[in-house]
Amino acid sequence: MTDLPTPSTKKPVPGQLTFTAPRRGKPPKHLADFDEAGRKEAVEALGHKGFRAKQLSTHYFEHFVADPEQMTDLPAAGRAELVETMLPTLLTSVRTLNADEGRTVKQVWRLFDGALVESVLMRYPGRVTMCISSQAGCGMNCPFCATGQEGLTRNLTTAEIVEQVVAGARMLREDALAGGDDESRAEPLRVSNVVFMGMGEALANYRQAINAIHRLVDPAPAGLGMSARHVTMSTVGLVPAIDKLAKEGIPVTLALSLHAPDDELRNELVPINTRWTVDEALDAAYRYYEATGRRVSIEYALIKDMNDHAWRADLLGEKLRARGKGWVHVNPIPLNPTPGSKWTASRKGVEQQFVERLRAHGIPTTVRDTRGSDIDGACGQLAASTA
Ligand code: SAH
Repeated sequence: MTDLPTPSTKKPVPGQLTFTAPRRGKPPKHLADFDEAGRKEAVEALGHKGFRAKQLSTHYFEHFVADPEQMTDLPAAGRAELVETMLPTLLTSVRTLNADEGRTVKQVWRLFDGALVESVLMRYPGRVTMCISSQAGCGMNCPFCATGQEGLTRNLTTAEIVEQVVAGARMLREDALAGGDDESRAEPLRVSNVVFMGMGEALANYRQAINAIHRLVDPAPAGLGMSARHVTMSTVGLVPAIDKLAKEGIPVTLALSLHAPDDELRNELVPINTRWTVDEALDAAYRYYEATGRRVSIEYALIKDMNDHAWRADLLGEKLRARGKGWVHVNPIPLNPTPGSKWTASRKGVEQQFVERLRAHGIPTTVRDTRGSDIDGACGQLAASTA
């Protein structure tokens, strides 16, 4: 493990945006990188019959199996090589941390080149949500987010993104086979929801993120067969990419990280605002709603004495309401602490007032729970240290 290169990323100066990931070697191609036609071609190029691709897909996407021993429907001759080539190991577990009595599990993964990423699995009654990473690090440099302070190491490939979800699904299945506790047995054994709210700005790694969404929602065995509406794409507000996403024909839920209703403050909290303003981001979010019919989420980390003022709640309420009714809801997030940050979460009374003001403007508002904050697994805390 220690002979892997350590990724070195220069820490960004405040306000600096990075769109282009440093060039690094590419991880091996994996079944999940390809669509069905591509898989067939890849298998044939290895000298196997095309229908083997579907068998491999069934093992991977339906049974979450990657061990050739268990793939007895494949010919023994050449099986190990075929599986090794089509399903190479992309993620190596470095650490697993539990919180909320095992209902929240953060995993730190090492990629082939030593880069680290994290994913978080959260069990709720009746659903399991996975928060996944789309980049190692992030180039968007939001000062209150631990990942943003790391800079951008590199984009993940489609399969590296998908594999986080499959690893979660595997973990759920293993728990179930081990018996689990009574409560967990009543819960679904599948990952029902995926949120692109781990490390990275997924829309800045657009193609890979879209391909990953296809793998998540394509019916099994081509993909995991999840419902698109249970997949949430969270973004700082890359306006052209939001418009492009609206045209993909996959009605995923869009979440916009707003954090301030005025440009002056948002320029500081979400530096991309210097490219696309609050109004431009909100207009794009509204267009997304119009195109897909999916209600948009506005994320708003509540930071004490920074963005939690009553007038900002009113301004946000007005701006949302001015664009229409029923198209949006707001998710205030109590700020999670990050290393070296001087900021803290708003007081509960202030939070409550912020929520009530928005509701008074007719905007549905629900405070997001902060699962996993004690294992640095909550929003904005993913920095993938192995310390
Ligand atoms: N790049 C994407 C995904 C980021 S993580 C985006 O910006 O939307 C998901 C959410 O957590 C974002 O809304 C992000 O702004 C928020 N977040 C980041 N740091 C946080 C912190 N310290 N406390 C609470 N929320 C935070």
